Amino acid sequence: MHAMRLNAPRTALEWVDLPDRLPGPGEIRVTVSACGVCRTDLHVVDGDLPFPGHPLIPGHEIVGRIDALGAGVEDLRLGQRVGIPWLGHTCGTCPYCRAARENLCDRPLFTGYTRDGGYATAAIADARYAFPLGEAGDDVALAPLLCAGLIGWRALAMAGDDARALGLYGFGAAAHIIAQVAIGQGRTVYGFTRPGDSATQDFARELGARWAGGSDQAPPEALDAAIIFAPDGALVPAALAAVRKGGRVVCAGIHMSDIPGFPYALLWEERQVLSVANLTRQDGIDFLSRAPGMQIRTRTTRYALRDANRALADLRAGRFEGAAVLVP
Ligand SMILES: [Zn+2]
Ligand SMILES: [Zn+2]
Repeated sequence: MHAMRLNAPRTALEWVDLPDRLPGPGEIRVTVSACGVCRTDLHVVDGDLPFPGHPLIPGHEIVGRIDALGAGVEDLRLGQRVGIPWLGHTCGTCPYCRAARENLCDRPLFTGYTRDGGYATAAIADARYAFPLGEAGDDVALAPLLCAGLIGWRALAMAGDDARALGLYGFGAAAHIIAQVAIGQGRTVYGFTRPGDSATQDFARELGARWAGGSDQAPPEALDAAIIFAPDGALVPAALAAVRKGGRVVCAGIHMSDIPGFPYALLWEERQVLSVANLTRQDGIDFLSRAPGMQIRTRTTRYALRDANRALADLRAGRFEGAAVLVP
């Protein structure tokens, strides 16, 4: 198999040839057909997240077909198309796992971080954490649903069913999917981008946002809730200033720069700040079973697997709208 491997933080990924591995008990091996590039991958490469101490293969928005089954795997079959998300393993016994909050597991493994991911021609996964995808939809178009869509879905749930006027801060891969979901649910979406990024503001309006502007601008009406996808802590007080009394600000990223000090008046009146961490398998089942009916159109830019470093650089610089997807 071939892979783009991260040998140390803050270095370029290296193209490597590795021996083919067989799946162990309870595991599957997939031939990767597409793997989305998530901002979390940038945080891993840039050392914003602690480096696990060994070379790793990033990538946790994997679409592929099963080409080998480990012992004891009974619910999946050879040739089946599956998606492999960020949550790669949970312990099943810690208080969080026992309380149906496996996203907060004390001893988890994460795909493309603490276990090898999909920047490769093949990947091995714990069968219990792979989602059957069915045959509807194109591999590349589906890949961003596996994290941008899923984490966005969890963030949208945390924003609350009563959040009719919804602000999305950082209009990248996740926001472009969740805007479509939210509008389909009858919510009104307001898109916030880097100040002056008129191309992304146009993109947000194209997807149905009622208004789009810079994150330094006030929306035309007070928001019921805001979801922050961009890794900029300064957006927390900005979003708090934009939500109504009792409104929520949901931080959906795994890493954010420090949140600057702000007057208590911004939080007063029962405004809430929450964060979203990881996903549960139930989130995946809920979202992926509904996704085909939601008519989500993902905007993707394809890169060859060998060009993963260029894809990451383009993501860092905001050089495309929507999501980047690697194709082996
Ligand atoms: Zn656990
Ligand atoms: Zn991700």
